[in-house]
Amino acid sequence: GKTRLLIVGGVAAGMSAASRARRQNPDAQIVVLERGDWISYAACGLPYALGGDVPDLQESGWEALVARTPAQMRARGISVRLNHEVTGVDARAGTLTVRDREAGRTSTEAYDHLLLATGVSPIRPEWAVTDLAGVHVLKSIPDAQAIEASLHGARRVCIVGGGYIGLELAEAMRARGLSTVLLERGDDVAGRVLDDPYRALMRAELERRGVDVRRCQSVDGLHGNAGRVTGVQTDAGRVQADVVLVAVGVRPNVELARAAGVRLGRTGAVAVNARQETNVPGVSAAGDNTQSLHRVTRRQVHIPLALSANRMGRVAGVNMAGGDARFPGIVGTGIFKVFDLGAARTGLTQGEAEAAGLNTVSVDVVSTDHAGYYRDARPVQVRLTAERGTGRLLGAQLVGAPQSVKRVDVVAALLHRRANVTDLFEADLAYAPPFSTTWDVLLVAADRLM
Ligand code: FAD
Repeated sequence: GKTRLLIVGGVAAGMSAASRARRQNPDAQIVVLERGDWISYAACGLPYALGGDVPDLQESGWEALVARTPAQMRARGISVRLNHEVTGVDARAGTLTVRDREAGRTSTEAYDHLLLATGVSPIRPEWAVTDLAGVHVLKSIPDAQAIEASLHGARRVCIVGGGYIGLELAEAMRARGLSTVLLERGDDVAGRVLDDPYRALMRAELERRGVDVRRCQSVDGLHGNAGRVTGVQTDAGRVQADVVLVAVGVRPNVELARAAGVRLGRTGAVAVNARQETNVPGVSAAGDNTQSLHRVTRRQVHIPLALSANRMGRVAGVNMAGGDARFPGIVGTGIFKVFDLGAARTGLTQGEAEAAGLNTVSVDVVSTDHAGYYRDARPVQVRLTAERGTGRLLGAQLVGAPQSVKRVDVVAALLHRRANVTDLFEADLAYAPPFSTTWDVLLVAADRLM
């Protein structure tokens, strides 16, 4: 019979894999099993949808964030089953146990090749496991719908967690005119992604725009009344809130992988080879549930982001369907903004490089995003980090006007090639007054490190 490919999870990695597998093998039978109601949606757009930055939401509803509908996938010969949760795997028999949540039925499905694209789940600390209404995480469209409903009539919001999702939510809540408190357990926001001085710049922007940022505060519990949350109890006191948004991190969904006898890596996410294959024959993994090779440190890391999820899915899809593709690894690139300030990083921060035992040197440069005499010039700050002695590029961090920090991509591309500061300095970058300075801030930084 036909080769049967089963894919668990229908968002970025799962749908990329399905599309690619279809192209690679027009005859294969491809089935996507998704426990939720939605496939192929842009989770990255959720904070912006809540903040009013997705105009199509008015007209099309949450479908505005959907890249491809189940009907479009079916038209390509990919079978999509919503509300189907995979509850077990028998890798030896090559079968899955699938529960149809609507019909309340359980069935067994056979596969020739299985892809686990199960993503991550938001962490809910013990205090956040509650029956009180008004306490939310943000991961999926139904989460966003629930937040939207909760915000109706609310005045005060407390966001717990100062990672990029918490920060994006803070902006969204202020855009809705809500009084917003952001609690961060660590000594500053964006602790996992930026070095200290750059974190402080992001916090200053939040505070300038009315976000009450409280650092070094950890949450002990919630207060409630008549079934609704009324506040958050921290080790430093009480924060009144009508709505509490919990954004304290994610953990990979690896239960099925475990059940299948698939090896997890040191990060706790699924370990795979460059073809996205696990240690169990016939079982692949891709996306946020999977770790990947960091090309700068050569270590396995778990950095759950959308481009790598899509790319891993694409690689897995080609290979499952009989082709040959490799995932090249990542270099730790990330970007986000709060209000009028963007932040981007690639490679390693100074802190990360030191933690990795590298002998590093960093330089900080402040310049303008374009010619200072041309209107609306704004400061852009760069920290460039290299290996002492060899000059090998290790990383860059930028903070400035949102579009200006996208130049991080130049360094990201060079990190893929294991380039050094001279390579960066010698790059023929684009210049005209509305776009950059003659010597772009990245070139100035490279020059200072040579
Ligand atoms: P997921 O999107 O997690 O999808 C996995 C799917 O598998 C889920 O739908 C789940 O229901 C399903 N599933 C799991 N277990 C089972 C089972 N047993 N049976 C059936 N189905 C199952 N990334 C960026 O790069 N840039 C950003 O700006 C950005 N912003 C973000 C903002 C927010 C609020 C969030 C939540 C994420 C953001 N991300 C961003 C991350 C990005 O959304 C993810 O990297 C991407 O969605 C990962 O796709 P995935 O397919 O690997 O996993």
